Amino acid sequence: MDSNASPTCPDCGFRIFNRRYPKCESCGALLPDSIVYTSAERSAIFEAERLGREAREREARARESDTVSGVPDELAATETIIRLS
Ligand SMILES: [Zn+2]
Repeated sequence: MDSNASPTCPDCGFRIFNRRYPKCESCGALLPDSIVYTSAERSAIFEAERLGREAREREARARESDTVSGVPDELAATETIIRLS
């Protein structure tokens, strides 16, 4: 059997796409543990998504502060050169 195939509800045969939801979205039957993610797996996924989001936000903020701090530095250097000449 192909283990990559989408699992189906043992009660109604509905294809399970959302394995984080413990019940069949069609008939509401409780799905076996082998189909749904365990709470540990769910929190691991949630944590990974949160870390990924935070990393992207940090990256965006870093880019912003680069542009903000980069320009005044250049201006300061130009001013120093003008004062020296
Ligand atoms: Zn079902």
